[in-house]
Amino acid sequence: MKEQRVFSLYKKFVIPCYKQYPLVIARGKGVKVWDIKGKKYLDFFPGWAVSGLGHCPPKVMAAIRKQSQIILHIPNNYYNQLQGELAKKLSMISFGGKCFFCNSGAEANEAAIKLARLYGKNENQHEIISMENSFHGRSLATLTLTGQKKVKKGFSPLPGGFKIVPFNDIKSIQNAITKKTVAIFLELIQGEGGINVAKKDYLLSLRKLCDQKKILLIFDEVQTGMGRTGEFFCYQNFGILPDIITLAKTLGGGFPIGALIAKNKIADLMGPGTHASTFGGSPLACSAALAVIETIEKEHLLENVKRMGEYLRKKLEDLKKKYSFIKEIRGLGLMLGLELKISGQGIVEKALKNGLLINCTQEKILRIMPPLTVSKKEIDTAIAILDKSIRNEIF
Ligand SMILES: *Cc1c(COP(=O)(O)O)cnc(C)c1O
Repeated sequence: MKEQRVFSLYKKFVIPCYKQYPLVIARGKGVKVWDIKGKKYLDFFPGWAVSGLGHCPPKVMAAIRKQSQIILHIPNNYYNQLQGELAKKLSMISFGGKCFFCNSGAEANEAAIKLARLYGKNENQHEIISMENSFHGRSLATLTLTGQKKVKKGFSPLPGGFKIVPFNDIKSIQNAITKKTVAIFLELIQGEGGINVAKKDYLLSLRKLCDQKKILLIFDEVQTGMGRTGEFFCYQNFGILPDIITLAKTLGGGFPIGALIAKNKIADLMGPGTHASTFGGSPLACSAALAVIETIEKEHLLENVKRMGEYLRKKLEDLKKKYSFIKEIRGLGLMLGLELKISGQGIVEKALKNGLLINCTQEKILRIMPPLTVSKKEIDTAIAILDKSIRNEIF
């Protein structure tokens, strides 16, 4: 099919809710994708970290192929051994506890909101505090939880019971907590918000505060989870324990799956009939997620993230020395951002033309999140293209 044909199909038949680049992706392998005309690109932003192990990760492809010959779907009113195995594995690599499975990040956060409300002592204790510049999804509850005006515009009336405070500011939280508060909800590194990293002493204070007030600490690890920061979960970099975490994106290695992990006592509040997801934890999705975890462990990808994260960061620091309009490099592991003094959109477009896919968020922050499998050579190539794209853009 010709590129123009795809554009015209979209124009006529697809609801235009996405801002799109004129690129039709046809296939992918590892850190590379090819467009419909056969041109190759290095993908340093694979689907907001969905393809976190690169495109077509062999073990995940094999698991899906195998499971698809056995059974695709098992309804949740019967037992499915793969869901049990995946729950055990996630519990073991995190803080213990139990899992609920769904199909996306928003759905995982929606489940966390409902679980927090069940945890409230009475109807009055239901309020959840979240952060400015956060992003938690596009369902009505999760966009209300999200600390960005632009995602809420046009969707009033929004559900009640949410309060938003500045990020990394313990005083505002102390002031915001009332008898109504039931949970504090945050990303440890704000992804859409511009790679803003939580401070360790802030998190330690939050944990203490939650223990004192007997309220829940919930981390949205949809983007930071599954190895992105050099640990399976980002909270493991900080030496604190949450009560609930939510996952999606890399969890299925490209196959849709979301999950919530909660400490046992909290998890058991969700008794039969309180929550459900028809497709949640299907054998196909669970086989993919199990293969993702196995790949991360067997191929020592957490080590690779630490080493390549450091290497990429150093290369980006070199670019910063070269271009005075690069203000700051920040992030953790392979979740890195370059804050610019100028708009980043032009650079992203030049990079695309030059064969490198990256992202720009909050207008001035370039976001770079290559697959956990990325090599030094691929980083060198990407940096050369980025350098060239910056030169194309400013001169
Ligand atoms: C992407 C994302 C979500 C939403 O996930 P969907 O699968 O699009 O619903 C929620 N939280 C964070 C931190 C995300 O990055």
